[in-house]
Amino acid sequence: MKNKKFKGISTLTLHTANKENNNSSHTTPIYATSTFTFETAEEGMERFAGTDKTKLYTRWGNPTFAAAEQTLEALEAHGLTNEKGEPLQLKALLHSSGQAAMTTLFFSNLSAGDTLISHYSLYGGSQELMQKVLVEAGVKIILIDIHNEQVLIDTIKANPSTKLIHLETPANPTLQCVDIQAICTIAKAHGIKVSVDNTVATPYLQQPFALGADFVFHSATKFLNGHGSALHGVMLGKDLEFMNKKAWKWHALMGGNSNAFDAYLLIQGMKTLEIRMERHCSNTAKVANFLAAHPAIAHVNYTGLTTHPQHAIAKKQMKQHAPLISFELKGGIEAGKKFINAVEVCTRAVSLGTVDTLVSHPASMTHMSIPKEERIKYGITDGLIRMSVGIENIEDLEADLAQALAKAAL
Ligand SMILES: *Cc1c(COP(=O)(O)O)cnc(C)c1O
Repeated sequence: MKNKKFKGISTLTLHTANKENNNSSHTTPIYATSTFTFETAEEGMERFAGTDKTKLYTRWGNPTFAAAEQTLEALEAHGLTNEKGEPLQLKALLHSSGQAAMTTLFFSNLSAGDTLISHYSLYGGSQELMQKVLVEAGVKIILIDIHNEQVLIDTIKANPSTKLIHLETPANPTLQCVDIQAICTIAKAHGIKVSVDNTVATPYLQQPFALGADFVFHSATKFLNGHGSALHGVMLGKDLEFMNKKAWKWHALMGGNSNAFDAYLLIQGMKTLEIRMERHCSNTAKVANFLAAHPAIAHVNYTGLTTHPQHAIAKKQMKQHAPLISFELKGGIEAGKKFINAVEVCTRAVSLGTVDTLVSHPASMTHMSIPKEERIKYGITDGLIRMSVGIENIEDLEADLAQALAKAAL
């Protein structure tokens, strides 16, 4: 089944994962095992010498991980071709979390003396991984205003040791977007690789490999899983030699492997990606317009509003606007706290991309470790509220927001 070409995303996510098994299980079996047996010494030798690393030892690979990886590869490659016009082949490496996948991505591409260029307003954990861990490993980190192409070109020229440019678009929680294609063109001209954090958009809305990216990263914990039931991360690449050798080796040695139960949950979650995303997106557009028109709201960050500074870029590179918003109440942080305490349908929690609507306060939660001056410079102000809009009935959601906003104004 796995090499079939499907027209639609739901067909792909329902039928790509390998279900071959001895007991005719309809769903992908959970291979809860640390190691794999062989009948003879010769068979063991053959397996170790072969290319299939899924039946040796689970830190190196596992059939349940492989089934999830096949679906992730098919999603990011859907409808794309390589330079020769052949279907694009990708390699995905499933990890225990987004942070584990990002660690493999960075360490397999960067070593002491190299430079990593990235931009303002990144997920808090990504920025901390760069500025705490990578800096101690001798990697120079430069965060710039990457919307300005001249700033990027000047930074590259001043730092010939630049090996990787890491983008996050749309960024969590400010929803700032960067032009993937424009940056990949500049990077390519200077022999620099580009990785894109595609967590917020998902491959359903945005395919960075079509725009020139070398690597795609996901915290699959979010929309790909969709139900908030486990952590997972994935690093995907189109240089199969690099992915199967160095990236695979680094991931195996650093021990960031997933586990069979979580991989199973991811496979199950991805089956409904398309229908969930359709509902997430339509609900988000309605909620964003409702909030933008509300007298208690100072401003709403949503790529679908024409007031969003990168509305045109978002529209150009995403199939629909991503289902994440953030907003500020006119009453500032105090009103924000009252609002969060007053919601009854929305869930108070960090994370995003779950079927239910989540509200959180980035300044005191996900971005607490980023120094205040820096945070504010990036647009993560004290009163900013982030909302990951779920698939609830829209009237129930709007009624909840209306009553919570009324309480916040008291
Ligand atoms: C959550 C998140 C991460 C980190 O992923 P984990 O699965 O929590 O380790 C990275 N980038 C973005 C944009 C995220 O939202």
